[in-house]
Amino acid sequence: MSIVAKRVLVTGGAGFLGSHLCERLVARGDDVLCVDNYFTGRKDNVAHLLGEAHFEALRHDITHPLFVEVDEIYNLACPASPIHYQFDPVQTTKTSVIGAINMLGLAKRLKAKIFQASTSEVYGDPSLHPQPETYRGNVNPIGPRACYDEGKRCAETLFFDYFRQHSLKIRVARIFNTYGPRMHPDDGRVVSNFIVQALKGAPLTLYGDGSQTRAFCFVDDLIEAVLRLMAAPDHVTGPLNLGNPQETSVAELAELVIALTGSRSPIIRRPLPVDDPVQRCPDITEATALLAWQPTTPLKDGLTSTIAYFDRLLGDRTGGTASTVTAAA
Ligand code: NAD
Ligand code: UDP
Ligand code: UDP
Repeated sequence: MSIVAKRVLVTGGAGFLGSHLCERLVARGDDVLCVDNYFTGRKDNVAHLLGEAHFEALRHDITHPLFVEVDEIYNLACPASPIHYQFDPVQTTKTSVIGAINMLGLAKRLKAKIFQASTSEVYGDPSLHPQPETYRGNVNPIGPRACYDEGKRCAETLFFDYFRQHSLKIRVARIFNTYGPRMHPDDGRVVSNFIVQALKGAPLTLYGDGSQTRAFCFVDDLIEAVLRLMAAPDHVTGPLNLGNPQETSVAELAELVIALTGSRSPIIRRPLPVDDPVQRCPDITEATALLAWQPTTPLKDGLTSTIAYFDRLLGDRTGGTASTVTAAA
C-alpha cells in the first residue's frame, strides 16, 4: 500500500504568512498547491520551494472559480496591510467575499476541510480589552478600513453558513498583528516600516502620539497555531483568536527597533490615520485551552530575526550592505 500525501491548497501562498505556511506543509510531507495573483505576494517568497517535488504554484485570482482536486484548503488570499487593502477597496471586498464563496464552493464539492484567515479587524476599534471571541466588535461600516473589516466579517458569516447549511468542516482564525521575515518592505505596516526606516537611517514615522497599542506575534508562533487549529477535532471551528497577548505601544516599538538596529534615525510624528484602533490585544484563553498553544518568541527575538531579513533584502537591492546601521549595531 502506498502512502499518498495529503493535497493541500494554500490561497495567498506567495504572501508573507502563506509562504511560511507552504514551507511548513511541504516540510511535513504534504503535497502543496500555492495559488496567488501576486498582488501583494512575491514569487521570491516561494522560489526556494519550486524545486520541491511536492510543491507547485498557480497564478490565479480567487474571485474567479477554481477547479482543482485537494483534501484541505487554507484561504489566506487577501491584501492585509492598510495601504494595500485600501489601494483598490472594491477588489479587497470582492477577494474576501466572492473569493470566500468560491473557496467554500470548492470545499463543498470536494468535502474538503477549509481554514479561513480572519482578522482582529473584525473587532474594529474595540471598546473591550483584551478582546475575547464573544466580543462583537465596533466597526465603522463606511470608513476606509471597512472594505477589509466588513469583507472579513462577511467571509466569517459565509463560513458559518456553509458549516450549518452544508455541514462543511471549517476552521476560522482571527489573526492579530503578526510580523517576521518576508513581510513586504513597502506594505506600510508598522513593523516593516520602522525596520526599513531604521536600516536606511530615515526618520521613523510615528502616527499620532504613539500611545496606541498592538500585540505583535512572531510568524513561526502563528503558523504553529494555524496548523494545530487545522488538526483539531471538527467541533473546534473557531472563531479563535490567534496572536501574542503581550501588548506594546507603537512608541515603545519604535524605541525598540532603534535600539536593536543601532540606528541613529530620529522619530517624527505623522497624523493618526482615520479609524486607527486605539488599543488591540487578543484574549487567547480559548486557543490556549483548545490547542495547547501559546506564543513563545519574545518580541525582541522576533524583531532581531526580522531585522536580519530586511538587512539582507535591502543589501541585495543596493548591491552592498543594507544600512547605515550594521556598522553602528
Ligand atoms: P500578504 O499581503 O503578504 O498576503 C496575501 C496574499 O494574497 C498575497 O500573496 C496576495 O498576492 C494574495 N492575494 C490577494 N488577493 C488575491 C486574490 N484575489 N487572489 C489570489 N491571491 C490574492 O498578507 P499576509 O500578512 O500574509 O496575510 C495573509 C492573510 O492573513 C490575509 O487573509 C490577511 O487578511 C490575514 N491576516 C494577516 C495578519 C497579519 O498580521 N499578517 C493579521 C490578520 C489577518
Ligand atoms: N466553485 C469553484 N470550484 C468548485 C466548485 C464551486 O470555484 O470546485 C465556485 C462556484 O463557481 C460557485 C461558488 O464556488 O460560484 C459557490 O459554489 P456553491 O456550490 O456553494 O454554490 P452554487 O454553485 O450553487 O452557486
Ligand atoms: N503606524 C505608525 N507608523 C507607521 C505605520 C503604522 O505609527 O509607519 C501605526 C498605525 O497607526 C497603527 C499601528 O502602527 O496604530 C499598527 O499599524 P499597522 O498598519 O501595522 O496595522 P494595523 O494594526 O493598524 O492594521
